[in-house]
Amino acid sequence: MKLKPQVPMPKRSVEERIRSFSEVALGYSEEEAIAEANRCLQCKVPRCVEGCPVNVDIPAFIKKIRERRFEEALEIILEKNSLPAICGRVCPQENQCMGRCVLGVKGEPVNIGGLERFVADQKDRMKVRMKVKAAPPTGKKVAVIGSGPASLTVAAELAKLGHSVTIFEALHEPGGVLMYGIPEFRLPKRIVREEIDYVKSLGVKIETNVIIGKTIRIEELFNLGYDAIFIGSGAGLPRFLGIPGEDLNGIYSANEFLIRVNLMKAYEFPKYDTPVKVGDKVVVIGGGNVAMDSARSALRLGGDVTVVYRRTEEYMPARREEVINAKEEGVKFLFLASPIRFIGDEKGNVCKVECIRMKLGEPDESGRRRPIPIKGSEFTIDADTVIVAIGQRPNPICVYGEKDVKLTSHGTIVADPETGKTSRPGVFAAGDIVTGNATVISAMGGGKRTAWAIHEFLMSKGKS
Ligand code: FAD
Ligand code: SF4
Repeated sequence: MKLKPQVPMPKRSVEERIRSFSEVALGYSEEEAIAEANRCLQCKVPRCVEGCPVNVDIPAFIKKIRERRFEEALEIILEKNSLPAICGRVCPQENQCMGRCVLGVKGEPVNIGGLERFVADQKDRMKVRMKVKAAPPTGKKVAVIGSGPASLTVAAELAKLGHSVTIFEALHEPGGVLMYGIPEFRLPKRIVREEIDYVKSLGVKIETNVIIGKTIRIEELFNLGYDAIFIGSGAGLPRFLGIPGEDLNGIYSANEFLIRVNLMKAYEFPKYDTPVKVGDKVVVIGGGNVAMDSARSALRLGGDVTVVYRRTEEYMPARREEVINAKEEGVKFLFLASPIRFIGDEKGNVCKVECIRMKLGEPDESGRRRPIPIKGSEFTIDADTVIVAIGQRPNPICVYGEKDVKLTSHGTIVADPETGKTSRPGVFAAGDIVTGNATVISAMGGGKRTAWAIHEFLMSKGKS
């Protein structure tokens, strides 16, 4: 039997999107969603559910779509996932639920992410969410540090269990990477705000512009009467290449570039007053989602963009869909090359990047073939803006001076992967601050497991 292909996700035209920050993927219509839902085999042992880090009952919500019972489909998703409109848009489903779908063995898997997004975007979505009611108050107080997906999940779960939760966020807007990292054209900020409003509707308070470790310390939070503390401070410190010339003008870390563009709305300058300088020739270094987001943002700001990546395309860690989008939009790729020096002009502005060609050797500890420089193959490319997008480091500022909370040599917090317990009783952690750079859903999965452990801790407090 010939398998039907996936119903394609409608997208904005390339001409329209290259000069706009509007969302690229437009979402399924009702008829498209039902046609895609009809491809699902409703497997008795659904492997897709095992592939989802928060184990959403995928076949059950897909069945409700077929029956046009969209509100019930959303209720099923919300049982396991408090941020479905975000996950439907940015989860690497190809490596998770969709990567396990049996239809993918001989053809194309069900577009589970597209269907999740469809359900989460229903016009009655807030009505469905408001049905979720919190348990009666327990009188316990929890402080949550950071407001990314790990923290929002912990906060929502604990509030539903009746605890009083306050989130402390260093920036002026909550949402973590969802707000300051991932651009509007992939994840509209109104969607993030709406998901945060849902978490607030459960009774969670959010205090912005509070840097734990600077404005107030963990010890002081305990003194203020918090019974437990959750750390979800993420991996927001940029990594640099450490090569000559990296301090020249025109070289940004991806963090700075994306924060200026997303959070400070530099693409609407002068309406918003934070500018970002994008020259004619932009070079982006890296091959992950951060590199793709930087390249596609720079392209929309008028740059001629080349991504330099040290391995081949098949090893790029970025989501496949986003690499395809970047190519369609005109981003160029230079594979098997790595920068070794930045060259500046007489005014201290970057004007060239010296690179060396690479070949692939034996696999390294990540399982990917190691890139090896080819001697004597150096060459230069023109650049007046460079964006370094080679990963982020954890940001443990909130535990500076807290000797009882142990860190690894990489700066991540040592915490039990199942319970989030750190070396200090009453302090829990999950998300990128524990795992290093990972994904939205893995941060949420860690947050969810930790919420249960915090609940147990709170309810057993004072009993022994
Ligand atoms: P974060 O989202 O990093 O949130 C941490 C929050 O803590 C921040 O708001 C920070 O300001 C705050 N904070 C830090 N220190 C303090 C302090 N001392 N006091 C108070 N607040 C503090 N993942 C995907 O699944 N799909 C994608 O497509 C994807 N694209 C990405 C694109 C970019 C540009 C980036 C940077 C990451 C991307 N990721 C993607 C990864 C994903 O966003 C992260 O894994 C996820 O956001 C981690 O969640 P978190 O809650 O641990 O931390
Ligand atoms: Fe449907 Fe694929 Fe999940 Fe089977 S594995 S239930 S076909 S989505």
